[in-house]
Amino acid sequence: MKLSRLASEIAESPTLALNEEARLLRERGEAVINLGIGEPKNKTPLDAILSSAAKLTGGDVKYAPVDGVPSLKKTVVRYTGENYGKLIAPENVIITNGAKQSLFNIFFSILNPQDEVIVLAPYWVSYPEIIKMCLGKPVIVAPEEAAFTPRFEDIERAVTPSTRAVVVNSPNNPSGAIYASDLMEKLVDFCERKGIFVVCDDIYHKLVFDGKEAVPAYRFTQKDVEDTHIIVVNGVAKIYGMTGFRVGWVVAPRELVRVMTNITAQTTSGVSPVSQAAAEGALNGPQAVVEAIRLQIQNNRDILLQEMKSFSGARLIPPDGTFYALPDLRAYTGNSMELARFLLQRALVVTVPGKEFGMEGHIRISFSGSVKDVTEGMARIKWALDPGSPNEIYVGDKRMVRDWI
Ligand code: PMP
Repeated sequence: MKLSRLASEIAESPTLALNEEARLLRERGEAVINLGIGEPKNKTPLDAILSSAAKLTGGDVKYAPVDGVPSLKKTVVRYTGENYGKLIAPENVIITNGAKQSLFNIFFSILNPQDEVIVLAPYWVSYPEIIKMCLGKPVIVAPEEAAFTPRFEDIERAVTPSTRAVVVNSPNNPSGAIYASDLMEKLVDFCERKGIFVVCDDIYHKLVFDGKEAVPAYRFTQKDVEDTHIIVVNGVAKIYGMTGFRVGWVVAPRELVRVMTNITAQTTSGVSPVSQAAAEGALNGPQAVVEAIRLQIQNNRDILLQEMKSFSGARLIPPDGTFYALPDLRAYTGNSMELARFLLQRALVVTVPGKEFGMEGHIRISFSGSVKDVTEGMARIKWALDPGSPNEIYVGDKRMVRDWI
């Protein structure tokens, strides 16, 4: 079959192949633990359910305005004022089909063919692929040695006359790192001067630990939202655990919002009003639900750190946010795909190879699941790799003996 060269070059989602293997193992009755998936385990917040149910029972589910339902846009205006200290207007907001569509529409709107976007490793897998789909060129900047954040000088060095944007994801998927304020400040200052967009993917911004804060880029500019080069992406997927509703948004200068609205109108149309009602319910309801998710995840993070202490050979920079950890397992192997496959086949644990995030030799472990999943999953990983761990383990009531070390 003759397919487009561009489309054929877009990488398969890295979790797909491993998830398929995990599904087959599960079908055979194996007790697989999924530490690969990135979503909190909570039930949908009650206010989101009630608000979307009211929309449904009204029986009036029609096309929604392309840029979003006005009341949800107003809610995002309030959210931006309260959480970012930034005064914006509804014309600065577009509601999208998850943060994924936000990112696609941004890059589609700002890139000409061969324009460059700086992507800071470790990075979320979809950034380079989305940039390529928009005919841009991802330019990867590696982190500082033994860190998950880049040096400002390395970003500066990667900038060329073709650079149109830098993507910043703090707290970061896959490392859990929060970018230091002075790095954010230098980056914003530099990009504002150069006319380079700073695309802030803030989807995890409230999932931070130990009182730390992911400082928003807006704090470092005096410019009005109309004049700034900062573009903010956010959504309800992670902080409310509402991944299935597919609601995200972009805050940007109105000219950019207008172009993104045209793109949305010609592709997907507006997000389902049922989902938008759910998002509005969550954003206007009691925010204790976010804190409950954050606390549960912080507790899981602490359990993971405790388990990591007795894991010789693994090196981990503790995550300060999100629900991911990215241990360095190069002491065992430099090939993270092989390692993830090995962990699935021997220990029945799903992880994601670090290579996919620009960090070969690492694996991403998600701790968004239950305490039991995190505890047992980590015990199994240690058992599979660390000669210092006991060489027998129980998986359910099945005794497994390690015979490969
Ligand atoms: N950005 C990052 C960094 C993510 O981890 C994810 C989800 N894995 C997204 C964006 C996409 O979010 P959504 O589900 O709202 O499309």
